[in-house]
Formats: sequence, C-alpha cells, structure tokens
Amino acid sequence: MHGDERITYPLAEALRRTDLPIDMHVTIIPSLNPDGWAADTRRNARGVDLNRNFPWMWSSSKESSGPGPASELETQAAMSLLQTERPDLVIWIHQPLAYVAPIADCPNEYVELWANAAGVRVRPDISHLGGGETWSARTAGLRSMLVEVTSWSTAQSLIDDHVRGFAALLPRVTVHESK
Ligand SMILES: [Zn+2]
Repeated sequence: MHGDERITYPLAEALRRTDLPIDMHVTIIPSLNPDGWAADTRRNARGVDLNRNFPWMWSSSKESSGPGPASELETQAAMSLLQTERPDLVIWIHQPLAYVAPIADCPNEYVELWANAAGVRVRPDISHLGGGETWSARTAGLRSMLVEVTSWSTAQSLIDDHVRGFAALLPRVTVHESK
C-alpha cells in the first residue's frame, strides 16, 4: 500500500513460504503500489496515498486522497480482486505502528492470535476516511484486520515475528458465514 514501508515485500515473500492448513487458499499481494515501491515513496506515481483513495467516506479534504474515490488503478485492482474472491479474511499489512487492529466485526480472537505471537499490542477498531481496510470491512462486508509491523526496521527478526503471527492465526480462520 505504501512503498516506503520496506518490510512489507520481504514479509509477504516469507508469508508465501509458510505452511498452510491443507484446505485453505491464500492470496498474497506483495505490493499493491509497485510504483511507490520502486521509488521508495508512500504515494503512488500520481502522488496519491492509496490508503486515502478507497470509497469509504472518501474525502477531498484528506491529504493526497486523489481526484475522486477509487480514482487510482491500484485501488480499483484491489477492490476488483476482493469483490471477486470474497475472502473469509482480509489482512492489510503496514508499517511501523506496532499493533494489530480488528475492523468492524472482525473477531478479536484473530487479532489477539497474531498480536500475541508477533509481540505487538491489540488496538481497538480503527476506521479512517478512504482506508482500504475500512472499505473492505464496512463497504464490501469482508472480515478485515490491520497489521502494523513493529517498527521501520526490515530486520529478519521482525519478519519472523510476523510470520509467527500469521501461522498462529491461519488455522483458526473460519468461513465467514454472513458474507
Ligand atoms: Zn502504510
């Protein structure tokens, strides 16, 4: 989502190598913002903060929210994938605020499993204008949670911490019956 959050790509690669429960399908997107990743910038190549561009209470008053809701191709791609696949759980990964938060009706158990294994705190639901996790939870009706990796570091130990969180959570994810 934010190209200057440098642990996210190697963390995604490490998650991809994690053993999965046998009946589970996981889609991992290493970078939703490839231009921002290449340029090491938070925003995309058009100067838009993608996490202010989603159409949940999108606001032109938010800095870098883009010319309109879902104006960006990256935002549209994420929305299309999620609306097509309707996953039982969406995990949005950011850096560096050191918490895990449930959005809307995401079970607290999920965030506690990840947070305890990774050594970060649980934060109550956060919702913000134009946020991807807020859109997926509150507009698309998908169970969604937000992971903020522990610091700006890209150390292997932090990758290991959050792989443990992922591995602790995955076997406990159930079918989202109300979707
Ligand atoms: Zn971020």
